[in-house]
Amino acid sequence: MLEDKIIDLLSKKTKCPVCGEECISWYKKGFYTNFWKEKECPNCKATLKLKGKIIWVNRLIDLFFLIWYIFLFINIPQLCSLLLLFYICFKLFWKVLVVGPFSEIVPYNSTPLDDLLNSFRKLKALDKKGKIKVAAVITAVVLAFVGIGVCINHRKNIENNLTDLTYDIVQESCDNYGDYSKSKYQDIVSEQIYKNMNYLYVVNCTDKNNLEIVESKFTSIEPQILSLKSAEVNYSCYVRYQLNNENDSYIAKDLSYTVQWKSDDNNVWRVSDFDGDL
Ligand SMILES: [Zn+2]
Repeated sequence: MLEDKIIDLLSKKTKCPVCGEECISWYKKGFYTNFWKEKECPNCKATLKLKGKIIWVNRLIDLFFLIWYIFLFINIPQLCSLLLLFYICFKLFWKVLVVGPFSEIVPYNSTPLDDLLNSFRKLKALDKKGKIKVAAVITAVVLAFVGIGVCINHRKNIENNLTDLTYDIVQESCDNYGDYSKSKYQDIVSEQIYKNMNYLYVVNCTDKNNLEIVESKFTSIEPQILSLKSAEVNYSCYVRYQLNNENDSYIAKDLSYTVQWKSDDNNVWRVSDFDGDL
C-alpha cells in the first residue's frame, strides 16, 4: 500500500538525534508540516528542527504562494479557490515525498536571537558573489511588495473612476430626461442604456418639466472589479415626485440597478450592459 511505503520512507529519517528514539509519530504531530518552527522530541523533550536546503525552498514556495494569492485576490478573485486547492494538494505530496526524505532532524541549540545575530555575522563575512545574491533576493522581495501595492492602488483607481462615471451618467440622464443627443457620454454608453438610466422616467411623460420632484437621491453605490477587463457598479436610488398635470399621482420609488463595464484594448471603459427596475 502507498501509505506503508510512505511511512517506511519516513521512518528511515525519524530517529531523535539526541536520544535515538524512533519517532514515527512526529509526522502526525506536524513535525514535517510546520517549517517555520522547531519541535520537541516526545521522548527526551530535546528541542529539534529540520535542516536542509529543501526547508528554505519550502519557505520560498510559501512566500511565493502568498504573493500570488494576494495578486490573484486583487485581480481575478474567481481563481483564488482553484489556486488554494492546487496548493493544498501540491503541499501534501511535497511534504511526504520530498521534504521528509531530503531533510534531516538536528538538535536545536540556539535561541532565535542567536540565530539572528549569527545571520548578520554571516552576511558581513560574505564574499562579493554572496552579497550580490542577498541583494538580489531583497530587491526581488521589495519589488514584489511594491508590485502588490501598485496593484491595490490601480484597482482602487478603477473603482473610484467607474463609480464617478456611473454617478455622472445617471445624473446627466435624469437631468436630460434620457435625451441621448444632449449627452457628453455618447462614446461610452449606448442610447438604449442611457434612456434606461433615467430613473425619473414615467410612462406617457415626455418632459421633465411635467414632474415636480420632491426628493431624488442615490442611497448606495458600490463598485466591484470582476476581472482585469470587466467590472460592475451596483447602485440604488430613492425618488419621490408628482406629475404636475394630474392630482393624486404622487410616486415614491426605491430602485436598484447594475451597470456592467468592460475595458477595451486601449483601457477605455465602456458600459456593456444594464440591469434593474425599468
Ligand atoms: Zn529524543
